[in-house]
Amino acid sequence: MLTRVAEGVLVHESDFMQSNAVIVHGGAGVLVIDAGIRGDELAGIATDLRERGHAVAAGFSTHPHWDHLLWHAGLGTAPRYGTARCAAIIQARLSDPEWKAAVGGMIPPDIADQVPLDDLFGRIIGLPAETERIPWDGPGVRIIEHQAHAPGHAALLIEERGVLVAGDMLSDVLIPMLNFLALDPIEDYLTALRLLERVAGDVDVVVPGHGSVGGADQMHARIDQDRAYVHALRDGQDPSDPRVGPSAKPGWEWVSNVHTGQLQRLHQRSERDGTPD
Ligand SMILES: [Zn+2]
Repeated sequence: MLTRVAEGVLVHESDFMQSNAVIVHGGAGVLVIDAGIRGDELAGIATDLRERGHAVAAGFSTHPHWDHLLWHAGLGTAPRYGTARCAAIIQARLSDPEWKAAVGGMIPPDIADQVPLDDLFGRIIGLPAETERIPWDGPGVRIIEHQAHAPGHAALLIEERGVLVAGDMLSDVLIPMLNFLALDPIEDYLTALRLLERVAGDVDVVVPGHGSVGGADQMHARIDQDRAYVHALRDGQDPSDPRVGPSAKPGWEWVSNVHTGQLQRLHQRSERDGTPD
């Protein structure tokens, strides 16, 4: 169930939205990034790691959305990190006594009873803003923080392995999903793409939060594709993007609705701000 994508880097793909959990081998155990979605999958990863003799040395969540914050008792009690902004957002949410109902309402009903919203959900330690690498005994994992898609979103560059864990960007199936709570979601997204472009030459394998793992050629192709989409959205033009419309991968037809919703939200913003669109 774990697929090797580079030396010492394994990926588990969930059947829910092609969500990718990433395992990185270190000196005293593994790093688990965005552990997974369904309880049985998380338990399966824990069993797999145990059978291979790997303890979990650390965890990391790329951003504060429910599908990137799950954990399982079988994975142990290692520290689980995120950016300071990511941790602040999830801590604020967990301080609400009704958080389970609030988060549960975001989960598609058909899998809601399989997603473990227990006391291990979102227990993220925030790394100070200036932290360059995840503190652990293993290959250097550089934190590339930006504000696209979600506040405090981190892409991770596993430097010696040439692997970029992109979080919810650079997907072959999911269009850029903007953070509309931000002041300038379009510019935030373009800035993040520039940050990723800056490291593209060091990337042999790109692992999106949802979708297919890509090679070095895909790194530039996906950056270009995401940027073209964001430009089209900004300019109110047809994105002519293979992820939207009849060319969408089977099972991903709903992405067209995400696009339409984003167009409407941007339009509302520009009307509210009084700027022409
Ligand atoms: Zn996600």
